[in-house]
Amino acid sequence: MTLARTWSVGLAGVHGAMVEVEVDMAAGVPQVVLVGLPDAVVRQSVDRVRAAIVNAGATFPHRRITIGLSPAAMPKQGSGFDLALAAAVLAASDVVPGHSVDRLVLLGELGLDGSVRGIRGVLPAVLAAARAGHRQVVVPAANADEAALVDSIEVLAAKTLAEVVAHLAGRAPLTRHVRGPLPPAPPAPDLGDVVGQASGRRAVEVAAAGGHHLFLTGPPGAGKTMLAERLPGLLPPLDEEAALEVTAIHSVAGTLPAEAPLVRRPTFEAPHHSATMASLIGGGSGQIRPGALCRAHRGVLFLDEAPEFPRAVLDTLRQPLERGSVTIHRAAGSATFPCRAQLVLAANPCPCASAAGDAACTCSALERRRYQSRLSGPLLDRIDLRVDLPPVTRAAWLDGVAPPETTAVVAGRVAAARAAAAERLSGTGLSVNSQIPGRLLRERWAVPRPSLRLAERALERGALSVRGFDRVLRVAWTLSDLAGRTVPGADEIAEALGMRLQRVAA
Ligand SMILES: [Zn+2]
Repeated sequence: MTLARTWSVGLAGVHGAMVEVEVDMAAGVPQVVLVGLPDAVVRQSVDRVRAAIVNAGATFPHRRITIGLSPAAMPKQGSGFDLALAAAVLAASDVVPGHSVDRLVLLGELGLDGSVRGIRGVLPAVLAAARAGHRQVVVPAANADEAALVDSIEVLAAKTLAEVVAHLAGRAPLTRHVRGPLPPAPPAPDLGDVVGQASGRRAVEVAAAGGHHLFLTGPPGAGKTMLAERLPGLLPPLDEEAALEVTAIHSVAGTLPAEAPLVRRPTFEAPHHSATMASLIGGGSGQIRPGALCRAHRGVLFLDEAPEFPRAVLDTLRQPLERGSVTIHRAAGSATFPCRAQLVLAANPCPCASAAGDAACTCSALERRRYQSRLSGPLLDRIDLRVDLPPVTRAAWLDGVAPPETTAVVAGRVAAARAAAAERLSGTGLSVNSQIPGRLLRERWAVPRPSLRLAERALERGALSVRGFDRVLRVAWTLSDLAGRTVPGADEIAEALGMRLQRVAA
């Protein structure tokens, strides 16, 4: 045989696309020509494949070899094509029968020693192979549990190219990989650990129930990070479809733990303010990696010391958060990732960050204003909830010593409130109050005028913008769902207003 074909999968964002690998051998000056938009890493594949074949005990053919990757117009990135290239070369040179590879999908990078190395993006690749009707996929042993999350395709795990050759030649067939039981998820941080901070606890509960973005201010040590870390635990666990979606993002990002290959809980991503745009949004050379924003899809993106983030970075977050997806453009192509994340910003009230709060602040009024104004603008305008936390000693004193409610208790209320909202919103394609467009809010679910008096007064005296008014309504609906009411009353409007018009808010 001089012509052989097999299959692999290329990735665009979190979507896999089948790539046909064809190898043609001809007489002539020995050389290898690779066609079909390979990137630099794929071009180096030829050297890895050559060394791996030799080290697997086979011979790399001394012929003129043309390797085609199609569809030709799709950019091919990364090292995951190695194994398919090797299999096609071996089939074209009759080391293994051609029919053993022509319907097979192979994923994996080859080491020069012939080992099969793990790659990023195995889950979306295997999903694509299954959807395209393929029956079998060979994956690196390191990715086998992840691949086996897809039930509708037989997963064969390989540690070395020699194993793959023995399988294809019929000497020692690989057996179907069966995924072990998923280990129990590690315990999430519990709200029961947070002493005092009644207003902060209330804010994360409301944020969880309505899907609202949240802005926490307060002196260092007030518990801003503790509260933010406990928000994912209040959100409902991911259903199967959502779990696969989030897992696929982490798979492409290379942040999936091998021992727990399925993300079942909303994630918590907390990039540092020195993080680059690429690590926050996504990018990198070669295969585009999703950033913290995308890894927080269906979870929480926490920006601590938010005023320290470069303004350009914060402004860049606004559109993707609103659209629920982000497209990253690179010379090698572009990739779109979902990023329906809940945002939590935290800030000290001023640059001196005095732990004792305002009493010990040494900043001038101008310094304080300048610091707070760093966060003003379009991003802050999208945040429904703004809460100012008192210093923790004062807070503990104010709240007394009653044992704090645990995550399990609060999550129960959140689930009930979400169910009420989902029922009201059924048929609209929306699921939480924070997503309701302003027009629908005012027309379809109008709150009786008498209950609105406080908010209307705030609007008249300019303390509230029209957009802000809508945000108060959204939060009031969430408070009403939490309280088991059918429509917000004056109390819910007043509390929602209080969570909007905070002292420190810009
Ligand atoms: Zn200060």
